Amino acid sequence: MKTTRSSRLFTRALNILPGGVDSPVRAFKSVGASPLFIRRASGAYIEDIDGNRFIDYVMSWGPLIHGHAPRGVIKALAAVTRGGTSFGAPSPLEVELGERVRALMPSIERVRFVSSGTEATMSAIRVARAATRRDKIVKFEGCYHGHADPFLVKAGSGALTLGTPTSPGVPAASSSDTLVASYNDLESVVRLFDANRGKIAAVIVEPIAGNIGVVPPADGFLQRLRQLCTADRTLLIFDEVISGFRASAGGAQEVLRVIPDLTCLGKIIGGGLPVGAYGGRANLMDLVSPAGPVYQAGTLSGNPLAMTAGLWCLNHLTPKLYAYLASLGARLAAGLADAARDAEVALQVNAFGSLVTPFFTDRPVRDYASATSSDTALYARFFRGLIARGVYPPPSQFEAWFLSAAHTPRDVDKTIAAARAAMKELSR
Ligand SMILES: *Cc1c(COP(=O)(O)O)cnc(C)c1O
Repeated sequence: MKTTRSSRLFTRALNILPGGVDSPVRAFKSVGASPLFIRRASGAYIEDIDGNRFIDYVMSWGPLIHGHAPRGVIKALAAVTRGGTSFGAPSPLEVELGERVRALMPSIERVRFVSSGTEATMSAIRVARAATRRDKIVKFEGCYHGHADPFLVKAGSGALTLGTPTSPGVPAASSSDTLVASYNDLESVVRLFDANRGKIAAVIVEPIAGNIGVVPPADGFLQRLRQLCTADRTLLIFDEVISGFRASAGGAQEVLRVIPDLTCLGKIIGGGLPVGAYGGRANLMDLVSPAGPVYQAGTLSGNPLAMTAGLWCLNHLTPKLYAYLASLGARLAAGLADAARDAEVALQVNAFGSLVTPFFTDRPVRDYASATSSDTALYARFFRGLIARGVYPPPSQFEAWFLSAAHTPRDVDKTIAAARAAMKELSR
């Protein structure tokens, strides 16, 4: 595979962007490779500047449930763009998307749009702290909630991939009210509640963990969290930045039947443009300025282009889509597991609908400890084997593979064939 142009551009990028990229996991550092610079993408495929084409499983890390550049989004964006790209004043699109979100997730009686998932989570805990007049929050080891200071404690995704679970530059004071529990381990939460009775403003959780790779919640885990929170008047915040509109049109809260007090959204809600949102019960969200005293603002919040892409995206979520995505996810998961078995490679494949992660470990993966028992060097070799065969998986062991409506069973079968060949190289 020729990568001359990407290599040359990376050298140039290293001289202007820290690490040559604008977000850490893009750098391919943990898989021992140089990043590919992408020229264009369409459907399930991306193409780099050297002309190499790949079946894409990063899909912009989740937003692209309908695939790259769906014609409807492109048309709608072109039409809206002609009318102006930002007003700094209300536009009808914000109301429309807000109502759409509420129709899909009824627990969101009021919603505030922001521009990223990071803004959504940091604002949601501000509301929770104001509503409860408490400071402490509980998060789970390996859950990622964006890069705001209070969450950079035992965070997942890039922070885990790059081995810096806690970042320098975060003052001890900003994270001293962050308590850390183990995902899928209710006792660890009970212990924190026992030691901090009446002091915990919120428990924030990815209802389906996606930033240590995919780890679905154990039976009853979220239900019991809900009960613990209610009993101590603590707010339960679901970070559905990945699972929202992906686990189902109504998110993880719909399929798993646990209703949080506040929900954080991102990724799919912007259909590939920068959008985040947080919302919940009206009495909580009416604390947000200007309805209430909790300050939060954004120059580009509710941006007309972003709202347009989000609306198109949410207006095309059908039961048929989720059935299709689930069948693709099951096909990919089974194919990867079979390939590993035949190559005698220890592999655990976790999946939830269109989210799939192959973990290179012989232990069932149900939490941070078991996820991090994975052999990341083996994943790195597997990654390079796939890239060489026209498949672009996430450049980290600890991320979900994302399927979209644009992927076909044939794409998945090609991926499995590539995985078989790559696995054979591993066992040698
Ligand atoms: C991606 C992600 C975020 C952060 O969203 P950004 O838009 O990258 O700021 C927060 N929470 C979860 C669960 C995520 O996966």
